Amino acid sequence: MQLTNRSKVIAKKEMSFMERLYIPAILGGLAITIKHLFKKKVSLRYPEVTRAFAPVYRGMHVLKRDELGRENCTACGLCAVACPAEAITMDAAERKSGEENLYREEKYAAKYEINMLRCIFCGLCEEACPKDAIYLTDRIVPSEYKRNSFIYGKDILVEKVDERIDVSKRKNEYSILN
Ligand code: SF4
Ligand code: SF4
Repeated sequence: MQLTNRSKVIAKKEMSFMERLYIPAILGGLAITIKHLFKKKVSLRYPEVTRAFAPVYRGMHVLKRDELGRENCTACGLCAVACPAEAITMDAAERKSGEENLYREEKYAAKYEINMLRCIFCGLCEEACPKDAIYLTDRIVPSEYKRNSFIYGKDILVEKVDERIDVSKRKNEYSILN
C-alpha cells in the first residue's frame, strides 16, 4: 500500500532490561494496593451496614396501629384515589362484634395491597390519609425474582403489634415504640 505524505510510521520501542523483568511494574502495582488497604474505605458491608439516608427519603410503606395495637386504616380509599400510579387496592369490611381490639373503627381493610413495581414513592398516599394509617418509612424494598412478589399485602405492610414504628420524625433509624 502506498503511504501518503501525512502517514507516519511509528517504530516499536524496544523494552529495556528492567521492563522485560516486569518486577518493577509488579512492585509498583502492589505498592498501590497496599496504600489503599490503609485508606478510609468508601464501600459499606451492605446489607449488614447501610448508609444514612436523607431525612426526606421515602421507602417502604407501613400501615400503622394505634397505641392499643388496633389497625388505624378504615379502608376509606382516599390513599388509592390520591395515588398517581394506581398502585393501591383494597377491600373494605365491617368490624364484627368482638373485633374492637383489632380495628380502631367500624370499617377496616380486609385486604390492602400496594404494587411496589408501580409505586413511585411520592408520599401522596401518606398525605391523603385522614387516619394517620399509612406512612413511608426509610426501609428499602428488597429485590425479588417474581413480579407478583412485589405486590405487598397486609402481612407485610401492617406493623407488628410488638414492634410499632415511630414515624413522628423521618430519620435513618425509626425507633421501636414498645
Ligand atoms: S407513594 Fe405515591 S405512588 Fe406509592 S403508593 Fe403512595 S401515592 Fe401511590
Ligand atoms: S390508609 Fe388511610 S387513606 Fe388509605 S384507606 Fe386506610 S385510612 Fe383511608
